[in-house]
Amino acid sequence: MSDVVTRFAPSPTGHLHVGGARTALFNWALARQLGGRFLLRIEDTDQARSSADAVTGILADLAWLGIDWDEGPSFTTEDGRRLGGDPRDVGPFFQSERRDLYDAALARLIEADLAYPAFESGEELDALRKQAREEKRNFRYRRPADFDREAARARVEAGEPHVVRFRMPEAGVEVEDAILGPVAFGEDQVDDFVVRKRDGFPTYHLAVVVDDEAMGVTHVLRGQEHLNNTPRHKALQQALGFRVPIYAHLPVIFNADGSKMSKRDKDKAARVAVKEAMAVDEAAARAQLAPAVDAATLERWLGDKKSQLASETLAALASKLGGELPGIDVEDFRRGGYLPGVLVNFLALLGWSPGEKEADGRDLERFDAAYLAAHFDLPRIGKGNARFDRAKLLAFNQESLAELSPRSFQEEHASWLARYAPELAKQLPEDRSALFASAMQPRSRTLAEPTAADGPGAFALVEDHEIDLDEKAVAKFLRKGEPSGAALLAEFRDTLATLEPFAPEALEAAAGAFAEARGIGMGKIAQPLRVAVTGKAASPALGDTLAILGRDAVLARIDRCLAEIGTAAPTG
Ligand code: GLU
Repeated sequence: MSDVVTRFAPSPTGHLHVGGARTALFNWALARQLGGRFLLRIEDTDQARSSADAVTGILADLAWLGIDWDEGPSFTTEDGRRLGGDPRDVGPFFQSERRDLYDAALARLIEADLAYPAFESGEELDALRKQAREEKRNFRYRRPADFDREAARARVEAGEPHVVRFRMPEAGVEVEDAILGPVAFGEDQVDDFVVRKRDGFPTYHLAVVVDDEAMGVTHVLRGQEHLNNTPRHKALQQALGFRVPIYAHLPVIFNADGSKMSKRDKDKAARVAVKEAMAVDEAAARAQLAPAVDAATLERWLGDKKSQLASETLAALASKLGGELPGIDVEDFRRGGYLPGVLVNFLALLGWSPGEKEADGRDLERFDAAYLAAHFDLPRIGKGNARFDRAKLLAFNQESLAELSPRSFQEEHASWLARYAPELAKQLPEDRSALFASAMQPRSRTLAEPTAADGPGAFALVEDHEIDLDEKAVAKFLRKGEPSGAALLAEFRDTLATLEPFAPEALEAAAGAFAEARGIGMGKIAQPLRVAVTGKAASPALGDTLAILGRDAVLARIDRCLAEIGTAAPTG
């Protein structure tokens, strides 16, 4: 094993989103490619915003994606793999349990006069910022020239509230980025930033630098939103005599409409939908939304574009309004019926490309995690923005679902159902679920589609009397013709009542024989039958459609349809 150590260091303040998953994946892939270790560290120094649920959710999402961590919190996956652990004895992996390390580093900095207490209150800092604005210069906190160490120490000892700031080098800092090249931060771009907060907790900057050193991290791949932090981290590393890891800042991810992808996109979409509904009829909209969110919370959220509602609340709002929210979290895509391998493939392309061609000359785009682990490299990460193309992701998923063996598709579908729609799973008779799955496979872009209310399998999931007969289809296929479709259907019903086995091939053959005996095309009996049992003119293959429903349901639906359109069902 090489000395390479990469890490993913999420702050457990919410679900794992696409951007975070991409960061994790790239760090994982680099560790695998270089034969190193991939470590997971939980950055929970912001105790108020961190939660144990968020930690569990992030671990489960990573495990589902197959992004296995070699070191970090212990976790057993759904299929019994054990992840995490601490073979090099560099843990614990929760920053909240590492405070003594941060305090020790802080003491060293203060001792060397590289960090110092600062006593300004929030209001005083605001006033300084305001003054800088008025003088049209950037506000950068610097230690006052007349700073008196002894006097400051006395104030600290007297218990005066303070933060601790790091003395940033006056000359500015140059960061070497493996993707972007050298990035210079001038003296006016960096200031004496806070390393210890008023409450005594270290800031993110100090904790991340101490941990990366203590855990032997050699490569830091993270989103470009962290680029401005890197000069701070490098200066701290140099002040503490630490190594500077290799940094690579990953391209920003944009939506197809050109907006920056953000974990707030779901709130944004939901806010638009709520406002639209209110514009139509405010009182009705409020009444409709009341069960999902209380009025005061709704008001606050509508008024503050930056505020976020819990994912579950947003989902409830969207379902009340009958709309869909854009997937942002890994969990959204899992719920949406995407395969983890597809998501991994797609995430990898958000900034990286294999640079290989397919046999037909097109760029190689479809690959699995093993390919990524074997081929991933830093030079092929782009500098420019990455585009989150949902249509492409959907197309990838459809392609991958179609490529599964029927058995794998059935298993994937069953486990999706068990997780997200157990009540629907019960509606499919067990002996016919394989048939259902194989009929759905070529028609599904996601694992959620077969059982969606308007999906290709909806006909099998409703009660016989709930079938809505499409008027146009009824007129065209049941009322027309001589004899009419309804009459042919009434006649064929007898065959269906006794046909053995009630299975796809036998059903297709029986319909074929019926058509041939009457000298009519197969469609003349297939379409009336299809409309009667599904309500629509399109459904999976006739034999599959009938066999999925089973004899009782088929006969009941035919009788109901004939009764409804005024042709009595024969009694015999
Ligand atoms: N905890 C930070 C975050 O979630 C990541 C820190 C880093 O990668 O350096 O954004």
